[in-house]
Amino acid sequence: MQRFGRPMVAAMHRRAPAAYAASEIRHLLARGGCPICRAGQEAIERYLFWFFHEFYSEPSVILRYVRSRGFCPRHLTLIGERGPQWQLTAIFSWIIADILRALDAPAPPLRSRFQQLRRHVSAGDALTRVLQPDGLCLLCEVEEEAASHTALMLLDVLEYDEDVRDRYAASGGCCLPHVHRVARAAGRHHEQAIATIHRVLRDRLASLEHLCNEFFRKADYRFAHEPKGEEREAWRQALQLFGYHGRATAVFDQAPARRAEGERS
Ligand SMILES: [Zn+2]
Ligand SMILES: [Zn+2]
Repeated sequence: MQRFGRPMVAAMHRRAPAAYAASEIRHLLARGGCPICRAGQEAIERYLFWFFHEFYSEPSVILRYVRSRGFCPRHLTLIGERGPQWQLTAIFSWIIADILRALDAPAPPLRSRFQQLRRHVSAGDALTRVLQPDGLCLLCEVEEEAASHTALMLLDVLEYDEDVRDRYAASGGCCLPHVHRVARAAGRHHEQAIATIHRVLRDRLASLEHLCNEFFRKADYRFAHEPKGEEREAWRQALQLFGYHGRATAVFDQAPARRAEGERS
């Protein structure tokens, strides 16, 4: 009976994903860009609303952002732009109080000869210990959770839903870091899903490679008269493929000295 144990149970539960999963993936694909990045952004939006209304003062949440010593630079920018004055003051007052207490606390006794010797070569040890984040930034955790959940949902839906496979291909698919993440989450039964993700990534990379080549070809004086096209956006498309979500603008539109000769560097 053992050989019909857990694998058989798993196979019996392996079925077409629930309708809500397919509709969620359709919704994310319709918004454009990487569906997993979108899911993360939507989760952050929902969380931020409740965070600034209620969660920020719940002891378990305070403990998390105090232990992580605040937020990562990306989410610090976000809460700085979105946070109300009262809540931001409260959040940082708790973090500051904890850091001050830790800075003023007496250093733990050195237990071994090795530690005593090490003390002389690591003057920054105590300060490092106080400022070392313990755990992920709270908002990184929210994104992380949404990404894990969406990666699995995407795999299941792509495996069974041809229409979603077409939509995924038309949208350009996931950014490169999230393709990596989805690939790591895939099981043996996600062959069709992975084949689709692989093909879409390959097509997108090949298309970008072509755009980059076009960009440099048209920089050559012999072809400079040709009308400029999508190749001017190659750098922006590349940033997006590699997971960039900022508002980059091309500030380097002047030809470097050697660009007139069609060279890349
Ligand atoms: Zn992404
Ligand atoms: Zn973060």
